[in-house]
Amino acid sequence: MYPKFSGFTRPILIAGPCAAESEAQLWETAKALKAGGDVLLFRCGSWKMRSRPDGFAGMGEASLPVLQRIRTELGLPVCVEIATPDQAAALLKHDIRCCWLGARTTVNPQQVAEIAESLRGTDMSVMVKNPVAPDLKLWEGAFERLLQAGLTDLAAVHRGFSTSDAAPYRNRPLWHVAIEFKRRHPEWAMIGDPSHISGCRQLLPEVSQQALNLDFDGLMIEVHPSPDYALSDAAQQITPDEFTRLLSGVRFPTVPAADGSLQRYRAELDELDSEILALFARRMHVSREIALVKAEKSLPLLQMDRWREVLADAVRQGEVLGLDARFVESLMQLVHAASLEEQENVLRHSGVYGGGMDYSGSGVQKDE
Ligand code: PEP
Ligand code: MN
Repeated sequence: MYPKFSGFTRPILIAGPCAAESEAQLWETAKALKAGGDVLLFRCGSWKMRSRPDGFAGMGEASLPVLQRIRTELGLPVCVEIATPDQAAALLKHDIRCCWLGARTTVNPQQVAEIAESLRGTDMSVMVKNPVAPDLKLWEGAFERLLQAGLTDLAAVHRGFSTSDAAPYRNRPLWHVAIEFKRRHPEWAMIGDPSHISGCRQLLPEVSQQALNLDFDGLMIEVHPSPDYALSDAAQQITPDEFTRLLSGVRFPTVPAADGSLQRYRAELDELDSEILALFARRMHVSREIALVKAEKSLPLLQMDRWREVLADAVRQGEVLGLDARFVESLMQLVHAASLEEQENVLRHSGVYGGGMDYSGSGVQKDE
């Protein structure tokens, strides 16, 4: 029987090699993972989409009978990445009922639509990795296309994002993107993929823990019997023993305690948030008054010297108060952008000039 993501029990642990390299490699990994007893699904890339044409591309369809036997003889359900309708059909032919769309597939709506259509009428469970760029609509769009094709057992996999400043990661986690996805879609399990976020073994414990701390439902980790000799993603794969150690080293948070231990603090936070909002409202009121003066005296809305001063002062004060400079800077940029937008509205409504400008988010670099 295949486990279902809907109605899943935590933690959903998925492990297996990046690529299917040989029958022996698949069996050896699967046996060790089965013996460990923690893994719900064995993962494997049968068709690897390599960035360069000379990269090892996986065993292809030849791996599927092996995977089928891993499921039936070892009792370990398997999941495989698919990128085309033909690959979807091949999985079905071998009675493999769980797959995932990789980051470079999710990014392509046409490809997702064709795969979804090829799975119509089947009970395939599908995980959808985030697209390579932090574009929530593309990620959600893939889910919508699968739903439209009648596939209902879906889960999200967060594998980080390709950015030019990813270091020390291979793919920057930009955790806020996954958090926003989870906020919008509590119905889908969210599985972390520390292997592809980290790109190296050393970061795996830290990234796994971060995902679990953010209430992720599970982890997908690349495991290989001899990682150093792996034909793809060698630096990030770990042995089955290391996988066991990783699992015993991280903390799996329990479901929120019903003992009210957080209640007192939360009441205090709620009160503080109300005060902060009231202060922001007062600040916005003053900002509107200023807009009228600027209109009357024909002054520019943005006065760069003043803005530089406000920002520098806030960062300085924040430091004295023990607040992180990046936080204060982002916060002030947000406040300033909203204030400029409001002043622009005031001017427009008082008929000073017509064009509205969108300052929202200007300069605001959301960070994890
Ligand atoms: C993979 O899981 O092996 C893989 C290729 O991942 P991604 O699509 O996240 O790059
Ligand atoms: Mn990989």
